[in-house]
Amino acid sequence: MTADPFFQPIPGMTLPRFAGVPTFMRLPLVEPGHPRRGDVQIGLVGLPWDGGTSNRPGARHGPRALRDASTMVRAQHPVSGLRPFETARCADLGDIGPNPVDLGDTLARIETAMAGLRAEGIRPLSVGGDHLCTLPVLRGLARGAAPLGLVHFDSHTDLFPAYFGGTALTHGNPFRVAVEEGLIDPRRTIQIGIRGTAYDSADRDFAKAHGIRIVTIEEFFARGAADVMAEARDLLGDRPAFCSYDIDFVDPAFAPGTGTPEVGGPNSFQALEVVRGIAGLNIVAADLVEVSPPFDLGGGTAWLGASILFEMLCVMAEAI
Ligand code: MN
Ligand code: MN
Repeated sequence: MTADPFFQPIPGMTLPRFAGVPTFMRLPLVEPGHPRRGDVQIGLVGLPWDGGTSNRPGARHGPRALRDASTMVRAQHPVSGLRPFETARCADLGDIGPNPVDLGDTLARIETAMAGLRAEGIRPLSVGGDHLCTLPVLRGLARGAAPLGLVHFDSHTDLFPAYFGGTALTHGNPFRVAVEEGLIDPRRTIQIGIRGTAYDSADRDFAKAHGIRIVTIEEFFARGAADVMAEARDLLGDRPAFCSYDIDFVDPAFAPGTGTPEVGGPNSFQALEVVRGIAGLNIVAADLVEVSPPFDLGGGTAWLGASILFEMLCVMAEAI
């Protein structure tokens, strides 16, 4: 494909990267009704909402911080040489506005907007927000269709039953509900990086009962990223899959700006390496969640998050 000039990021040599209004990766802002909307293939979209957070909030501020940090991303991948903005037409689609005081309303808004992107043929790379954001994304993309495969980087399984004795949805159970609703195929789901103290084993029991593959951090470090990601590629095959990346997958020494950090995790190189390991998979949509700027005092977590987004964008661009 010949690179479309409209869909190129503003070059740092034209306007310094600290100047201008920050969009994701300095891409054009293409909201609904924009004359080039119909040409977008991959859309970066903000989900500024953390209403599913059970402990330390702040991820609602993630999209704005990640837009700012992502102005430091350049156009060419350092290893593959891929230039994703020339391979696919990418744009910042703006935010899906939440209702910060109504969880159900927000879930409906995100699902409706994602179903709209599906109808438009735009592949979303969404930026949270807490991990409950992923549930309405999956509903919008997969409801009434074949379940998606899932590659999930996280220190938590997010397969827990409802917290607080009720039935409430939280950022601790989006994938349990996604399995129950038939949005993801548990036998084509792999969760990588799992660690930390737990209340109980209810999540592991659910995974075992449904055939979900859990790679604990102990197994990840014993085998290495390359071997684990080869298994992920074998498990997922060539059918459509979603990649969900919780920034707390990364060790809090490298990513302190998150609500539920767990020590003993991957470093920032491994954080990128695992995404390079899903190249070749049919990743039709992806997200990065749980960056919480109030806990990110130096801004390093947002910068790592923006770098992970670029890696995911490269994988998605190659899958177009
Ligand atoms: Mn999570
Ligand atoms: Mn987590």
